[in-house]
Amino acid sequence: MIKAVRGTRDLLPPDTALWNFVEAAVRDVFRAYNFQEIRTPIFEETALFSRSVGEETDIVSKEMYTWEDRGRAASDKGQSLTLRPENTAGVVRAYIEHKMWDRGLNKLYYIGPQFRRERPQKGRYRQFYQIGAEAIGPPSAGSESPARDAEILEMLATLLDRLGITDWNLELNSVGSPGDRARFNEALRKALEPVKDKMCGDCQRRAVTNPLRVFDCKVPGDQPIIEKLPRISQFLGDDSREHFAAVQQILTTVGVPFSINSRLVRGLDYYTRTAFEFTHGALGAQNAILGGGRYDGLSEALGGPSAPGIGFAIGEDRLVMSIKETAESVLRKPDVYIAPLGTGTNAPAARLARELRQHDAVVELGDESFRLKKSFETATKAGAKYILIVGENEVKADAFALKNLTSGEQISVARGELAEKIQG
Ligand code: AMP
Repeated sequence: MIKAVRGTRDLLPPDTALWNFVEAAVRDVFRAYNFQEIRTPIFEETALFSRSVGEETDIVSKEMYTWEDRGRAASDKGQSLTLRPENTAGVVRAYIEHKMWDRGLNKLYYIGPQFRRERPQKGRYRQFYQIGAEAIGPPSAGSESPARDAEILEMLATLLDRLGITDWNLELNSVGSPGDRARFNEALRKALEPVKDKMCGDCQRRAVTNPLRVFDCKVPGDQPIIEKLPRISQFLGDDSREHFAAVQQILTTVGVPFSINSRLVRGLDYYTRTAFEFTHGALGAQNAILGGGRYDGLSEALGGPSAPGIGFAIGEDRLVMSIKETAESVLRKPDVYIAPLGTGTNAPAARLARELRQHDAVVELGDESFRLKKSFETATKAGAKYILIVGENEVKADAFALKNLTSGEQISVARGELAEKIQG
């Protein structure tokens, strides 16, 4: 038997209604903040990710789905293709390709699948979904301003609150400018030199090639060593320090609570200055519901002009998991189950269904071959509020038996009054 590939999964009803509810709610919030949707391809040239996310990151070094494209293998350019492991690189590639700096500050959002070959477990999949946004543009459009960082963070707080997720924690850090980071990496390399032999294989490699990535390490034995390493906050230059302070000041003024986590460096190389994560207790081990940060040098790294930006990606799978308990009420059940009763009643029942749906009622339609008992069972199982019986006598009288399935009350209602009765 053929089954879904390990780490991928089917989303079935009624869960899909929760996904739609989440997506409708976030689109509403994006509209209020004037973000517009962008859609980029789900696969790109491999080089896009190695140049942006970074060669030494777990994502690029271990987790990408990469293949040689047969059709392009004959040519010398870009024959290696990769399923996108994240969407920021694709958005910045599109920004450069379509010269989007002409539009000033671009406020863009996306919703879609991403692919990483991670060890599957609850809350971690190989095909997962992200809802993300990017504010990117030329420096003259204000793209570098701490006001953009704070606006994005405040929008995220609004978004989570709107979805009924109130007990989130915002963890904030500054990972500095490329210059700050170079000095920090140097200090880390020195600090790691005498201790790296006691660390895991990945960290021994990182200690030489990209010491910052040591902070991504999850190996318990390495944590006491990592705890004693220098922190990026000691290496921030005046510019980074002032920028970070300004972000915090706005957040405090607008009333978005946060805490500083000086270990937070995010698992991607392109971040500069502000970096953040929102966590949620209900999620357990995989408790990061979203992450993001500023990426001021990313466009240049991909051959574009200076285009500072800041963005985030929410794990939609985890977001849906967080609201599952509270949001069952958003799943709309049928208002009415129409039960045709006896030969020749399918047609008048269909006519009634059409009329009621035109009045925005959610209608489930049965079949004339069902006995009344089976119709009642089906209506109850579907969670319908009412059952409407369409028998020969009812059709003749043009008035129908309407029974409230919760209270048990049954009345006869004329065709013209049905919609009002059912929805009132
Ligand atoms: P990242 O930028 O890698 O931190 O990803 C942003 C968010 O996407 C995370 O905070 C998670 O909520 C979600 N995410 C990342 N990887 C996975 C995965 N393999 N399965 C499910 N969600 C994920």
